[in-house]
Amino acid sequence: MTEVKEQVALITIFGGTGDLANRKLYPSLYHLFTKGFLKENFAVIGTARRPWTNEFFREKVVESLKGIEKEGFDPEEFASHFYYQSHDVTNRESYVELKDLSDELDKKYELQGNRLFYLAMAPNFFGTIASRLKSEGFVDNAGFSRLIIEKPFGRDLASAKELNESLRQAFDENEIYRIDHYLGKEMIQNISVIRFANSIIESLWNNRYIDNVQVTLSETLGVEDRGRYYEESGALRDMVQNHILQIVSLLAMEPPIKLTTQEIRHEKVRALRSLRVIEGDDVYKYFVRGQYGPGKVDGEDLLGYRQAENVDSNSNTETFVAAKLMIDNFRWSGVPFYIRTGKRLAKKTTQIAIQFKNVPMNLFGPGQSLGGNVLVIHIQPDEGITLHMNVKEPGQGMLTMPVNLNYAHSSPDGMNTPEAYEKLIQDCLNGDATYFSHWDEVSLSWNFVDKVAAVWSNTKEHFPNYTSGTMGPKEADKLVSQDGFEWFE
Ligand code: NAD
Repeated sequence: MTEVKEQVALITIFGGTGDLANRKLYPSLYHLFTKGFLKENFAVIGTARRPWTNEFFREKVVESLKGIEKEGFDPEEFASHFYYQSHDVTNRESYVELKDLSDELDKKYELQGNRLFYLAMAPNFFGTIASRLKSEGFVDNAGFSRLIIEKPFGRDLASAKELNESLRQAFDENEIYRIDHYLGKEMIQNISVIRFANSIIESLWNNRYIDNVQVTLSETLGVEDRGRYYEESGALRDMVQNHILQIVSLLAMEPPIKLTTQEIRHEKVRALRSLRVIEGDDVYKYFVRGQYGPGKVDGEDLLGYRQAENVDSNSNTETFVAAKLMIDNFRWSGVPFYIRTGKRLAKKTTQIAIQFKNVPMNLFGPGQSLGGNVLVIHIQPDEGITLHMNVKEPGQGMLTMPVNLNYAHSSPDGMNTPEAYEKLIQDCLNGDATYFSHWDEVSLSWNFVDKVAAVWSNTKEHFPNYTSGTMGPKEADKLVSQDGFEWFE
């Protein structure tokens, strides 16, 4: 059981009227309140440009909790800790008022000068906000100052560096919490336990026993109303640079000496450093990009990416990426890590499939194909693990049949496990940065991704090259089949 330790802090949310704040942050804070991590000594300031009153803001907060209210934890009482400050982040005067309110709440709620700043707004404001927080004295308080920032962390290595330098003027590396909500997911955090608490797994976790590893993050939705953002980003920057490379590093890293933030990050960085750099013509050997065209899903006609709002009708932006990553170290030499992610695919799933090598020979007769052993880690929407094995078909003879050993993860009340955001905010309040990305990880991933993006931006692909509702372009299947494998479905 996790020890329930009350957290004392002022939480300032920049972008307090936005989608992320409403859908994720307020419900997560409420969950922490119902679990006793937040009690009396906390306050939340929501800031944005709109001229809201405290009362109106609190109504919005209560509204965001519809359906998750818990008996004994009055949403109104929770919302009474919330304050609204109309604030233009580019305007210096706004910070003076915000600082006065912060100091006042610090006294009123006895917050010991602990401050968490959550930047839930467009990244082009991050640098300005950080430098104002510094120049206006927000971070000279008695307690801790921590900064949570949302993705995207830059658009390439150069812009990420620039952003990082501007943040570092106000915050130390250990005060910056770069959120990657995949790292807050229960089954992602479970990877370390599955690996390091099971000798039958860890002893096989290498190139002698594993044929290939597959990481799939597929979405059924299209770009929806995020065309403007997506045109600048694409699947490579939006999904591979952060979520997928984070997952790969957790799968590939060596066992840390201890389960501390520093040791785990150190091993993740080493794994990322072992990633084979793919550049120039090799990009076409190791990477496949795709863009969805129109299609019919569940009887509904859907438009292609190029027909979406704010998308160029000749767009060269990829909505799908598949790749073969190689980790050139002793453990993984020769084992491909296939990754794929995309929009408008046939199903919504995040899963990892570890395919083990086959037995040296099939003793059960030529007519019986033995499926390989596969360990599947289901991240979402299902959470759990499945081990695919072969057993004897009951009855006479020695016929084999595949079976699945399943462990489905669900919390005792039948609900899904805590939201990633809830866990990550709690970790940050606790000063635990293990499941946030360190700058070294971010810079190594950009360095890797930039080389692929450079090739793609210089050549035009024959888009669209996959139909909505399929699992991406045919070339993605070839990428795997030419090595003698197939995607695990
Ligand atoms: P949003 O557009 O809904 O909200 C943006 C907020 O910023 C609003 O409150 C707006 O009033 C405020 N704002 C804009 N300009 C301002 C200014 N000059 N001064 C003060 N306030 C200003 O955006 P969102 O969807 O909540 O996303 C916020 C951040 O989180 C983005 O970086 C996004 O990439 C990231 N993110 C969002 C989600 C999500 O589920 N919405 C998921 C992952 C990451």
